[in-house]
Amino acid sequence: MKVMKFGGTSMSSADTISRVAEIVESSPDARFVVVSAPGKRDRADVKVTDLLYKCYAERRNSDNVDEAFAPIANRFLRISEELGLLGKSGFCLDGELEKIRLDIDGGASADYVASRGEYLSAYITAALLRRPFVDAAEIVRFDGEGRFDEKATFALCREKLDAKAGAVVPGFYGAMPSGAIKTFSRGGSDVTGAILAGALGAKVYENWTDVDGFMTGDPRIIDDPKIIDIITYRELRELSYMGAAVLHPESIFPVRSRDIPIRIKNTFNPSASGTLIVPTDKFLKGEYKRKELPLTGIAGKRDFISVQVEKSMMNNEKGYARKLLSIVEECDLSLEHMPSGIDTVSLVIDGSGIEQARIDAMLKKIKLELRPDRLDVIDGIALIAVVGHGMNRRKGMMSQITGALYKADINIRMIDQGSSELNIIIAVENCDYERALKALHSEFSI
Ligand code: ASP
Repeated sequence: MKVMKFGGTSMSSADTISRVAEIVESSPDARFVVVSAPGKRDRADVKVTDLLYKCYAERRNSDNVDEAFAPIANRFLRISEELGLLGKSGFCLDGELEKIRLDIDGGASADYVASRGEYLSAYITAALLRRPFVDAAEIVRFDGEGRFDEKATFALCREKLDAKAGAVVPGFYGAMPSGAIKTFSRGGSDVTGAILAGALGAKVYENWTDVDGFMTGDPRIIDDPKIIDIITYRELRELSYMGAAVLHPESIFPVRSRDIPIRIKNTFNPSASGTLIVPTDKFLKGEYKRKELPLTGIAGKRDFISVQVEKSMMNNEKGYARKLLSIVEECDLSLEHMPSGIDTVSLVIDGSGIEQARIDAMLKKIKLELRPDRLDVIDGIALIAVVGHGMNRRKGMMSQITGALYKADINIRMIDQGSSELNIIIAVENCDYERALKALHSEFSI
């Protein structure tokens, strides 16, 4: 049994939804189908979820929602018309649209308004597939503080979905104990799919998107990245953290803890086998076979800041690192890496979106409370993660990495090897970032 989730591009028009229907109908073991709201049909298009947030904002500024609601209603009407659903018995899109318009008019919450994209998308898909529609508000629970409540959700899924095999469920939202609608963060339909797969003990969670799978490198920079056929949850986490994101980061937890693999598939190229994300322990025990390569993938991010603290005899001063970390915490900054020497320690912080004032406040506190001999800040640092279980106990990895960067005339600012030998982090200057990615990718011919 599998749970299939289709993303916004797959749900963007009548044509793409017809492809979705074909894929579902040719999968006899598709127990549940989770859908996103219609996404962009082309680059210039606007996602339905963005139109809904705009509609909510306009409702707050004026009394008339009609103008902002019209493009949303028209989009769903057009999809339904092109799918031949209008006028079919039991299909009442007009009634659904009118209820939503009235709710928005009556001051519905932002989460409720945003969730209606997925709601209508699932309503239409269920009618097209002649499968039951189950509202996510009935099965996905958040607690009173708005935190996802896994226990209550799993119990509801098992109770309500057992009799509804094949149901189509809207992604992205659920309900609080009061019944109020609450959404996950953006892209959260991935999370709903994973929750259903986890709750129902699916054999696999299929996540259908618009790319052939997870790539060995960023296709905007690398000319010929390959699709990774098998990747473990831990490798995925390392690469996604560094920006190689195909899935919502929270979507792996409900399935990973139950050893359920995720398959990334492309709605627009369904015959491609995609990427299979597998439980790490099972992979390490040899339950999944893949081509033996030293690396699985390379990913990176720009705009880190390195704060270098130097104080002689630092190693003798008890609690120095602890005090330093408390200052980082007090200034509400999060630490990525902390390479250290005898009398030096560096704090590597993700600087994107951080105001200079927070960094300045941290530096001031460090000076005042820790009295370092030197305090230097280097910004414009890019981090590159070289990731793969294949590196484990393999000789010469580091020399290959440094050799490739040397040949490309790139200076390395920092190296950090994770203790599990699953990743090596290399810091270079922002301006060398793309060349470094290219050099490493071609060195390892992944
Ligand atoms: N429609 C929502 C968004 O655009 C959720 C999703 O597509 O997963 O973020």
